[in-house]
Amino acid sequence: MSNTVQLTEKSAKTTLQTTHKGHRFGILKNKTLLLLFLPLALCGCKDRKVTTPTPQIDIEPQYWIRVLLLKDINNCTLEISSAFEITNEDSIAKTLPVHFDRIDSPFDIALSHEGIGIAERTFTDEQIIINPGEPYIFKLNGGEYRGKLKLIINADGSSFDAINLVPLESYLAGVAGAEMPDYWEPEALKAQVIAARTYCLYTKRRFGNNRDWDVSKTAAHQVYHGISVESATIWDAVNQTIGMVLVCKQDDGTEDIFPAYYSSTCGGHTENSKNVFSESFEPLIGVPCSYCKDVAKPKFFFWPMVRFDKAVVTKKLFQRYEKLRQLGDITDIKVVGKTEYEDFSRVTMIKLFGSNGKSDFLRAEDFRLVIDSTGRKIRSTSFQLVDLEDSWAFLAGRGWGHGVGMCQCGAQGMARQGKTSRQILSHYYPGSKILTIDY
Ligand SMILES: [Zn+2]
Repeated sequence: MSNTVQLTEKSAKTTLQTTHKGHRFGILKNKTLLLLFLPLALCGCKDRKVTTPTPQIDIEPQYWIRVLLLKDINNCTLEISSAFEITNEDSIAKTLPVHFDRIDSPFDIALSHEGIGIAERTFTDEQIIINPGEPYIFKLNGGEYRGKLKLIINADGSSFDAINLVPLESYLAGVAGAEMPDYWEPEALKAQVIAARTYCLYTKRRFGNNRDWDVSKTAAHQVYHGISVESATIWDAVNQTIGMVLVCKQDDGTEDIFPAYYSSTCGGHTENSKNVFSESFEPLIGVPCSYCKDVAKPKFFFWPMVRFDKAVVTKKLFQRYEKLRQLGDITDIKVVGKTEYEDFSRVTMIKLFGSNGKSDFLRAEDFRLVIDSTGRKIRSTSFQLVDLEDSWAFLAGRGWGHGVGMCQCGAQGMARQGKTSRQILSHYYPGSKILTIDY
């Protein structure tokens, strides 16, 4: 891809310089030292015109991120511009590893009752890992990614999931370029990378042990588009903040990472995470933001009225929440919880009334995403809800996203005013500080 070419020797050199500073390695849990060394894969690069080899390819497992790329599929197309090896994590397996020489054209991966078929071989293992050689890059259904590809056959054997195993800093390049335009201010991009690094490590640790992946590639976690969104400025933001994470005081008095949420445009005040995600962290209490208004497009800062048919609303709520069926058709919706910030407010809780006289409560953020799963119509919970007999209208909408943590447009606004990434982060995550994982 064209962006790949931008990763020339300049950014490769930056990576080398940054990572070779080499401090002894740092902190995720206060006073917990995790020793780590980063041997760079850059040294053996023979073809930098094509791409920078993926850094951190030999880093320890806790700094590999497992990104769910495709779920419940039966086939996909793979393209790898190098020789590759198929392994699994079970060293007892006698059939693996298998080495493949470079295959010049894209090839299919298909699931049959015998197993996963790849390039005229069939693998019967429930999980296999495809390991591209240098520069450690593959294309899956046209999307280009760094690291490795893990395929896991689901329990009933009818489909498989495709998971990208990618070193943390490479993952962040594929996130930062998707979450922010790469022409935004360098300090805003750096703040974005630090928030994203913190968020994914937190999510991995909290949820990763109970599933085969750490984060999805969508806005449900962080948008990740792999190599297609990388550029020299994105890599600069990653390399100049390498290993930096946000920490705050926890209930037990220690310092640790927290879920450093962020969203597009807060609309005037960020929200307390307690009202959106039912969890409390000091840096996520909500702060005023006067910075996003001049950055966000007016149609995104003030979003237009949208209306939804009542029958559609009932259907969507029932599909998502089985227990709401006992209410009967939803006949009325009342706002019962709100946060007020000077001239700006956000709905936090609604009450649903059904045709059989029963009622129930729903968090406003959940409500809007059930009614509009894209989040592109009901863009935030800052709205007025109006009953129009056959439909509900959402009026006076303001902001885009859940509003918790860093306001991305606000970060750009602050950076335009000359604020540093540290100042941006301490504004949006009050009480937090930056520590560095010393790879
Ligand atoms: Zn804002």
